[in-house]
This record gives sequence, C-alpha cells and structure tokens, in this order.
Amino acid sequence: MRRIAIFDTTLRDGEQAPGISLKPEQKLKIAKALESAGTDVIEAGFPVNSPSEKEAVKLIAREIEQSEIAVLCRPIPKEIDLCQDVLSKASKARLHLWIATSPIHMKYKLNMSPAKVMDKAISAIRYASGKFDSIQFSSEDATRSHIDFLGKLMREAARAGADVVNLADTVGCALPEHMALMTREVKKAVKDKIPVGVHCHNDLGLATSNTLSAIRAGAGQIDLTVSGVGERSGNTSFEQVVVSLLFHKKHFEVETNVKQAELGELCDLVVKEMGLRVGHSTPLIGENSFRHESGIHVHGMLNNPLTYELVNPSDLGIKGGDIVIGKHTGKAAVKHLLERNGCTLENDELTKLTELVKERSIITGPLETEKALLDFAVNNGFEVDYKRGGDLAR
Ligand code: MN
Repeated sequence: MRRIAIFDTTLRDGEQAPGISLKPEQKLKIAKALESAGTDVIEAGFPVNSPSEKEAVKLIAREIEQSEIAVLCRPIPKEIDLCQDVLSKASKARLHLWIATSPIHMKYKLNMSPAKVMDKAISAIRYASGKFDSIQFSSEDATRSHIDFLGKLMREAARAGADVVNLADTVGCALPEHMALMTREVKKAVKDKIPVGVHCHNDLGLATSNTLSAIRAGAGQIDLTVSGVGERSGNTSFEQVVVSLLFHKKHFEVETNVKQAELGELCDLVVKEMGLRVGHSTPLIGENSFRHESGIHVHGMLNNPLTYELVNPSDLGIKGGDIVIGKHTGKAAVKHLLERNGCTLENDELTKLTELVKERSIITGPLETEKALLDFAVNNGFEVDYKRGGDLAR
C-alpha cells in the first residue's frame, strides 16, 4: 500500500470562499479537529492577508503538534521572512510558495514573461531553502499552462530545494484524464524524487474525480477541504475522497492517515463555524444522504442497509437511518415503525393505513416523526396502542 499525504486547505482556500471569515480561535478549533482526524498537513492561512490571519497562524503553529502547518506565500523574500516568523513555534513548518504559470495569468495578472516567472519562483525557493521543515511549490492554473513549461519549472523547483510540487486546477476546468496525464508528466520531470500533489476545484463538479484520477496516476499528496468549501464551487471534498479511497481500497492501493470515524464530527464543526449551507443531496453530508422514503428502498434498507447505502454512516461518525413517511412510503416502512412501537396490524389494515398516509402526504407533506405516524393511525381509527414513539429512526 502506497501512503499518500492529505493536505487540508479548509482554513486557507476554504476560508477564501466569499462571505466566510473566521476568528483565530475558530481556526484553531478546526485545526485541532483536522489534526485529530489524521490530516498530514494543515494549511492554516495566508499570513500577509491581515494581522488576524497572522495571529491565527501563530496560534495554530503553537498548539498543533502532529500535523505539519503550512502557510501560503508569494515568491517575495519579505513575505517569506514573515512566514518564517509566524511559523517559528510550529513543530513542523511548511512554506507553500506559489506562482501562476498559464499564459492568461502570466499576461493579465502577473504581467511577467515565462522566463521572469521561472526566475522569481526559483529564486524564492532558493531563498527559503533551509528556513522551513519543508517547502511546497505550487503552480497556479497548471491545467491551462503549457506542459513543457510546467515540466521545466517543476524540475528546476525540485533542484532548487522544493520538497513537494503541486499542480492546481485553479478554475476547475480539467477532466480526470488531464489530471492523470499532467501528474505523470510532472512526476517524470522531477524524476520521481519528490511527491507531486494536486489541487482541484469543483467548477464542473469533477474535483473528486480529478483528484482520484491523479492518485491513480501516482500523485503523492492531495489538497482537500472539509465539505468541499472554497472559492466559487469549492475544492475537492475531504470526506468524498477519503470515503472513495476506503470503498475502493483494492483499486487505488493507497492509504491515508485519516480516521474515518471522525469525518462526521469534523464536517459538522466546519459547517457550523463557517456558517455554511449544505445542500440536501450533497454527498455524504447532505440531509438526504442517508435518508429514505420510497417503499422499495426502505424495504431493502430494513432487510440490509447496504442494499441502498454504500457505507454504514455510523462508521463515518455520520448520523443516518432516517425513514421519511410520505407519498412514496410503502407498507414495509409503516409495518416496521408500528412494530418498533409494539403495535401490529392485519395485512389489509396495514395496506389501508399506508394508502391513507400517502394521500395525506400528497396534501400536507410527509409525517415528521414516528409519533406523528402513530397519532395519525389512532386518529384514523386504527387499533394501535403504543408506549413510546420518537424520531423516525431505523
Ligand atoms: Mn485554490
């Protein structure tokens, strides 16, 4: 099994998502949860952004022991010095230098020639060399860069002292095949002497696929954010990649240091602290991810939950097992919920009650709780007698 490193950027790229701003103590809380979940590298922030960001990084660097702490930095000596200062108390400090390498970014953002970009990047790596436990060098907009230029730059970066090189799909335009091809090319360029990482965005909904494809192509590090938070449509989701790797362990033949049972708590914390709204159908952490209504599905679930769920949510520390009683409900669900409460109905009674439940749900929406179902049965003259009744849980 090949071991790959998880580089989490929830506190940097994630926090850059419009409208999000965390106080240093909030960032520390999230950093601690990331450390506890087994994250290898925590990108704590972009120190030059503000005094609060500097304070947050210092706090995290002081408190976190297991994970390496990274900070984002432009290839400018003064900024490198600042990063060295804020990371001085870190048990493991990583400088994350980056520069854009695509023609559009070099021309319209940096106003630099490719030669100038190369020079700036390599001098910065040389300047930083020896001042940190590790140096990561990233190419911004790598997926829209010329592969020959990218290869040459990464080869020189490795020679100058970079310990990891990283390829960003900054606008989320890549396909899985592109990420694999680019990863292989850059691995060749650095002669496989240092790990090649990838940083994907989700503008086409492909961030997870692209990251997994890069792993298959030999990427040694992956950038993730919890719940996929990040600029625009976000980054590669931490939980999606971790669960994909677990589910397809034999296919990927890689392992990570992540403790799967802590995923639920980690996601809940980030969502709460950042004030995020998670979509109903968001993979793994959406309200409906482990919730069922339709008769055929609930019937299968009651016999064996793996009929309609790829993983037991409790293995991930995620609450699941909800049955919704609504328009699509079948007899099995109604029977199950009655029996859980010590009630039984004859088969034709059960059929009648199920039909009434469906009718009622079409008009007024699903019954919210198990108790509501039992009350509904009693109010409609069914002979059910129950002692308890609470949440609709499996
Ligand atoms: Mn990014």
